[in-house]
Amino acid sequence: MGRGRAYLSIVVMAIAASAATTPPALTVTTRARAVQPGELILFTILAAQPVSQVTVRAFGRDWPAYEDGSARRWRAPVGIDLDTRPATYHAEIAAGEDRTSYPLVVRARAFRTRHLTVNPDLVNPPQGCRFAPRCRYAQERCQVEEPPLTPTAEDPRHIYACWYPVGSPEYKAIKASRQAEPIGAEAAA
Ligand code: SF4
Repeated sequence: MGRGRAYLSIVVMAIAASAATTPPALTVTTRARAVQPGELILFTILAAQPVSQVTVRAFGRDWPAYEDGSARRWRAPVGIDLDTRPATYHAEIAAGEDRTSYPLVVRARAFRTRHLTVNPDLVNPPQGCRFAPRCRYAQERCQVEEPPLTPTAEDPRHIYACWYPVGSPEYKAIKASRQAEPIGAEAAA
């Protein structure tokens, strides 16, 4: 009886000693000003062995992790979207064969609001070309149809949106008729 108890104690001590000396495969720590919407959390992941890649998945997306001076030490910045609801989330971290989950308790955040009054036309632009109210070449079509974005023939990276662009026959005709008007007629109209 006495010998059996002694044997059990030795086994328990051996297991405890083993647990105390085996480092965890992944050690995760985080740093953040606050775990709230709009903030950034910096993860530091320390692997027991060098690894060639670390992945961090949180808030439904993957976040890039980069090696920080050693193949055992990795960092990953994780952002919290403004519309993230307060709750406990989990970041899933993988490094080589090892996996771990790290809880993230997101707290509510109240944002300061400021009320601005803007021209309704900027919120609900009028029909047709946005420049029509102040364009001296505007025609009836400009009031009702929005010109599409069109690449120029010279450089497809240069795009414009105008029914009567500079140099077009219509532009020249409108320009000629404007020039034929008596001085002051436009202002009077
Ligand atoms: S001429 Fe061109 S810029 Fe002027 S209102 Fe018409 S589409 Fe717009």
